[in-house]
Amino acid sequence: MEKEITCTVCPMGCQILVSGEGGRIDRVEGFGCRRGEEYARNEFAHPVRILTSTVALRNATGPLLPVRSSIPVPKEQIPACMQILKELTVSAPVKCHDVIVADILGTGADMIASDSAERV
Ligand code: SF4
Repeated sequence: MEKEITCTVCPMGCQILVSGEGGRIDRVEGFGCRRGEEYARNEFAHPVRILTSTVALRNATGPLLPVRSSIPVPKEQIPACMQILKELTVSAPVKCHDVIVADILGTGADMIASDSAERV
C-alpha cells in the first residue's frame, strides 16, 4: 500500500510518499527533514488528530459549548467519540478547561471545555 502524506509540521508542506503494509513501513520518500519523516511514519502507521467539537449546553445564553481533546485521538476512534459528544448535554456554569469527558473511549484523552459559560 502507498500513501501520499502532506507534511503539516512546517509551512513547506512536503509531499511524502510512504509505502508498506499494516504496521510495516518499507519506504519513505520526499521528506525535507527528519521531523517530517517521523511525522509521515506516524501518520501512515497510527494517524491521530486533536478532536474539536461542540456539546449541547443548557442553562446558558448559547446552546453549544466548544470542546477539544487534551491530546490527539486515534483517527479511527473519532466517529465514536463524536457520537458520545453528540449525545451529551452539559449544564452551565462551565469554566474554560473543565473536563467534560474524562478519558474518552479509553484513549487517554480528556475532552475539555474551550470556553466558559455562565449560568443564566
Ligand atoms: S518534511 Fe520537514 S521541511 Fe518538509 S514540510 Fe515537513 S517539517 Fe517541513
